Amino acid sequence: MSFNSLGLSDALLKAVSKQGYTTPSPIQQKAIPLILEGKDILASAQTGTGKTAGFTLPLLQILSDNPNQKFRPIRALILTPTRELAAQVHNNVKAYSEFLNIRSAVIFGGVKQKPQVATIRQGVDVLIATPGRLLDLQNQGLLSLKRIEIFVLDEADRMLDMGFLRDIERVINMMPDKRQNLMFSATFSKEIKKLAHGILNHPSQVEA
Ligand code: AMP
Repeated sequence: MSFNSLGLSDALLKAVSKQGYTTPSPIQQKAIPLILEGKDILASAQTGTGKTAGFTLPLLQILSDNPNQKFRPIRALILTPTRELAAQVHNNVKAYSEFLNIRSAVIFGGVKQKPQVATIRQGVDVLIATPGRLLDLQNQGLLSLKRIEIFVLDEADRMLDMGFLRDIERVINMMPDKRQNLMFSATFSKEIKKLAHGILNHPSQVEA
């Protein structure tokens, strides 16, 4: 199995090849074609399985297949539990979008909001965020999630462990109902299943 058979564009294959990846990991083989079909996904995957590329590559392809509007609304939101993970995911997004006309930004708490706001003002297609800072900026009217097409909830079990359930619900309420949802979790408790039920629309289940 090679990356060429997954339905990814040349620009993405070039970025993948630049990373030195030769074979898609199991989660990538299963998730990428389903996401490109527009399906909602419930994936069980630990860190280290290649899950980040598994959702980022098809997400970037879907966005770049449809031309950007002149005024760049935020079209994809990737929510992560920690700033370390947010920064790591952003690095992945930047690397994979090198040959695309896609802009991304990361926002998290514990640092000044001004530079983050300035970046968002310039227009970003993909926003990676932790819940606290995202809601903070939204409450101040500094960003809008009304044009989100794809929502990724990464490490959902850690989100719940860290007490982010209410925040996740608030974020969901800020997005349009019609959107594609991709949810990743290492474990599947009753709470995670309940959360998945509330967010996902006829999801395809994927295991790493
Ligand atoms: P993740 O599980 O998303 O945190 O990825 C774990 C590590 O695997 C990261 O350092 C990625 O750069 C790397 N990686 C992702 N996909 C592949 C692949 N298909 N082949 C080799 N390495 C990969």
